[in-house]
Amino acid sequence: MAIDGPAGAGKSTLARRVAARLGFVYIDTGAMYRAIALGARRRGVDWADQAALEQLAREADITLTPDHRVLLDGEDVSAAIREPEISQGASVVSAISGVRRELVLKQQRLGHSASAVMEGRDIGTVVFPDAEAKIFLDASPEVRAHRRVKDLAARGVAADFEAVHREMQERDHRDRTRPDSPLRQAPDAVYLDSSGLTETEVEQAILRIVGDRAPAAS
Ligand code: C5P
Repeated sequence: MAIDGPAGAGKSTLARRVAARLGFVYIDTGAMYRAIALGARRRGVDWADQAALEQLAREADITLTPDHRVLLDGEDVSAAIREPEISQGASVVSAISGVRRELVLKQQRLGHSASAVMEGRDIGTVVFPDAEAKIFLDASPEVRAHRRVKDLAARGVAADFEAVHREMQERDHRDRTRPDSPLRQAPDAVYLDSSGLTETEVEQAILRIVGDRAPAAS
């Protein structure tokens, strides 16, 4: 099952809830791009160095644990990859085709090994174009920025709404306009705007869509 959409649309929360409900594995592909951006920063590799980043993506050992931690070469980087600077870095390194090629291969291996809810930007268009159910989860830019500020506050990070809103717009613009695998809705994906909905309402809407599209999984 593929859930794509822009930053802050609520994909992670909903994908986790739906995966738990269906007994599927939850795969956060954004965490993989974030891990590459973090790994590069730590090794002093420039985010514009395409060859070095491609090699890093090929060699990096990224593990997504069942309790939703992210390990990079065995080290728990779950908190470090959520820093705002790494969000921007992930969006920069994810525009590099060589990086995408390596991570898409890893994602396809993961998705073939178990029934999964996979979230990202290109899951329904590139990674699993034959996914049994595809959702494009969206929300207004203001709602998305508010949610991100709340998420950061919950983790003890004070964030300014205007700055978060601006950074999110920049990241979305980069994600939507890159030549390789831009963020866009797959033609057969169901569009869902979560702006005025509670998490439970979105979860119910997604479960209805899954039920309609993939009867065997519901
Ligand atoms: O989903 P998340 O905000 O953690 O993703 C971080 C960045 O990784 C995104 O802004 C996007 O540039 C990139 N990404 C991607 N393709 C995916 C998942 C994430 O390009 N499938």
